[in-house]
Formats: sequence, structure tokens, C-alpha cells
Amino acid sequence: MSLSVEQRTEMVRHLLKRYAAFVRDKDDTEVIRAVAEVFDVAAFFGAGVPSTDEFLTRYWTTLGPVIFAPKGHGPLAEHLLVLCHELTHVVQFWRDGLSFAIRYCTRKGRAELEAEAERGAIEVAWLLTGTLPAYDALAITRHGYALDEAHAAHTVNLLHTAVTSIANGVISTDVGLEVLGWLRQNAPDAIVGKVAS
Ligand SMILES: [Zn+2]
Repeated sequence: MSLSVEQRTEMVRHLLKRYAAFVRDKDDTEVIRAVAEVFDVAAFFGAGVPSTDEFLTRYWTTLGPVIFAPKGHGPLAEHLLVLCHELTHVVQFWRDGLSFAIRYCTRKGRAELEAEAERGAIEVAWLLTGTLPAYDALAITRHGYALDEAHAAHTVNLLHTAVTSIANGVISTDVGLEVLGWLRQNAPDAIVGKVAS
């Protein structure tokens, strides 16, 4: 990635502001308890509720407009791609509100929403590197608890179609387009992947 740390930091700041999103550490227990109550974490995770320790240390989790970072995550600028994934969940929340939450609770809906989120991250990777990162079932289970095998496969199939258009320069997610706009204004030389228009 040819962006400097300062540029990545600035881009992250811009994206969080653009989507009225907040990042909190998972050891900020007061906040996570409050947010978890509002958004009903148990309903999100269904039967596969992760153990507290796993939840706190391993996963990035987005609830409404709040992105929870795992403990010990370091500077946000080092997590640009996962942030783009999580920011797409924030976009989905603002776009669809309650129906997003309901949709996320169905396995099919969750598979599709995860595919969109991962597409956002893949588009940004494409813009900055000109290569397509892995998007196999393993990468999709980034959330671990979020998808069973069949629905992870559904997500992978959706992404398989997506990467063909991304490789032809089609950037279509909210976050992908926002990053493209930011890059054009602030760091046009860092755009490495082909963009169609
Ligand atoms: Zn996700």
C-alpha cells in the first residue's frame, strides 16, 4: 500500500466521520454492555454466541454505528481493510435500520450483507494494490460465529461474481466509492487498481 501512515489515518478519520461511526475498544465494557442491550447481541449471533474471551480478543464487531475493535488492536490505520468491511455494516444500518437488524438475523440475509461488506473491503484492496485479496470461506468466517458453512458458501459465490466486476474496474459499494473519491482528491497516485470511469 503506497499510502503513508498519516494518509491512512486521515482516510480512516474521514470515513468514520462520513458514516457517523465510532470505534470503541471491547474492553470499554460500559459502552459494549449498553450497546449490546440496545441491539440485542444474542439475537445477532443466534445459537453461535462466542465465548466472552473469544469475542473480546478476536473479532471486530459492529453494532449499529459502533465498531468494536478487539483488545490490543493497535492503530486503526493498520486495519484499513477490516474497517472498510465494518463500515459497510454501518452503512447497512443507516440505510435500512430495523429491517437491517431483522435481515441480519436470517442466515440468507446475513450471507448477503456479509458479501456486501466484504466486497467493500475487496474494492478498497483493489484500488490500493491492484490485486484481489483472498475471499474464500475462511476469510468470510472472519466473524467466526456469523455464518454456517452453507451460507459462507453463498457469500463466497456472491463474491465470486463481484470480483470479476471489480477486476474490470467496477467500484460499487458505498465505502468503495467513498474511498475512491477520497483518493482522487487526496492521493491520486495511490490508486493502483484499474477504475472503469
Ligand atoms: Zn461482517
